[in-house]
Formats: sequence, C-alpha cells, structure tokens
Amino acid sequence: MRLLRFGERGAERPGVVLSDGARVDASGFGGDYDEAFFGGDGLARLGAWVARAGAAAPRVPAGVRIAPAVARPGKLVCIGLNYRDHAAETGAAIPPEPIVFMKAASALAGPYDDLELPRGSVKTDWEVELAVVIGARAKYVTVERALDHVAGFVLHNDYSERAFQTERQGQWTKGKSADGFAPLGPYVVTRDEVPDFRALPLWLKVNGKIEQQSTTAQMIFDVPALVSYVSQFMTLVPGDVLSTGTPAGVGLGRKPPVFLRPGDVVEYGIDGLGEGRQTVRPPV
Ligand code: ZN
Repeated sequence: MRLLRFGERGAERPGVVLSDGARVDASGFGGDYDEAFFGGDGLARLGAWVARAGAAAPRVPAGVRIAPAVARPGKLVCIGLNYRDHAAETGAAIPPEPIVFMKAASALAGPYDDLELPRGSVKTDWEVELAVVIGARAKYVTVERALDHVAGFVLHNDYSERAFQTERQGQWTKGKSADGFAPLGPYVVTRDEVPDFRALPLWLKVNGKIEQQSTTAQMIFDVPALVSYVSQFMTLVPGDVLSTGTPAGVGLGRKPPVFLRPGDVVEYGIDGLGEGRQTVRPPV
C-alpha cells in the first residue's frame, strides 16, 4: 500500500494511492497516519477499508498540497556517513559504528513545499535519503527481528546547513533542524512492497543537473542493522522516522563546494518511492 497525506498545514488528511495510481481521499477511514495508527492495527484496517470503500471514495483533488507522509512523528533519527561513496567524497573514514543524530520533528515538510533558507544560511545542502517508518515499538531488537518493527519506507531529503552543522559548535542537530529541512514523501510504501530495499536506485538534481546518483547497495550499515543499532540506545516508537544516510554527490563534496541559493530547484527520487521537489526561497 502507498499512504499519502494531503491538505494545508493543520488540516491534513490521509489518502491512499491505489495500485492503478488513483489517489483516494481516506478521510472516511477515520484516523491519521500517526503513532496509534502504525502501532495498532492501522495498516490492516486501512487495507480492509480500501478493499471495501476505496473504489467509491472521493479522489484527492488535483493541485492540492501533498503533506508530510507521516503525521508529526515523535522523533526523526538520522544516520550520518552511511554510504561508502559519500564517506569517500567527504574524506571521512568508514565509521566503525553508525553515526546517529537527531533532526527536529518540526523540520517536517511536504515533498513539494518550498524550502525556506534559515536566516544566516550560506551553506544549505541537499541529501536524498531512504527513510524507514517504524511500525512496532523497538527496544533492544536484534538484527534478525528488526524488519518486524518496520512499517514501510519513505523518501526524505535531509537538508543540512553545513556552517550551522560543523562550524557553530556542538552537535549536527543545529544544521539539520530548520523548518522545511525534512520533506517526507510523497508517500509511505509498506514494507511488503519494497523487498529490494538493499538495492534501490536514488538520485537528486539541482536545477536539472544530476548531483546524486547511487544505490542503497552502497550503504555501510543496512536497514535491519540500523534499526537494531539505534534501538540499543533509544526506543523507536511507531511512527518514528529513521533516515538512513545519503550517498555521494552533496554540495559539500564538490570542489569547490556548492550550496543552495534562492530560486534553485531541487528534485530527487528513489525508484518505487516517488519523487520530491523543492524551490529554494530566501529567509523570512
Ligand atoms: Zn543525512
């Protein structure tokens, strides 16, 4: 199943993309894609609702805003330097353990929302990523059982202000958390429909030019390893989002580095998970 959300901020509603591509308004299902949904029997109930009522349900209106694919998760956990090609371009050694950092949940945005640069930004950069949506509480889970705790996968762009991230003291969180720095979607694809999560092509363009083009096969630590690893340090709660790192081709890796300016257009995607697009706007 593909789960999307639509509507303006504060009035977002659930939807489903049917197998024929039709986008159905799932307001009649009665519930949003949140912790209670993913942690309970939400996916099973939604599947039953689609089978029963999907064909006759109203369609998502054309032109309506597509919202973040998950309703305000409790946390966004990210992994740094998790692609061999990205570690190489940054000159960093292959990490012996996953690098874990947090991104503010308030950074969440829809996949086509404009990206407003934060005040003082001079080094805002892009990072196309495969993200995982947690489906069952994960605490001290083994690698072998980790996928039992995954509801699905979703496209994410882990926008990063490099000066805030690395030149302003403290943790990466400062450079990762501005409003709009976590466009998530267009939809969550349930785990059963992404059997090849270890070999997904992913790409990103800036102003029509390819900057990132790789595959999740370049990951140093794969999805089960990451879910298990993070769960040793914090409990992952249903609806939480775990973003698994970016491949080579970020602006920081260019020589000389290249960063986003107002008017730039960023487009990106992962095969099977759809595409996102942001137009960069100046700070307010
Ligand atoms: Zn990242």
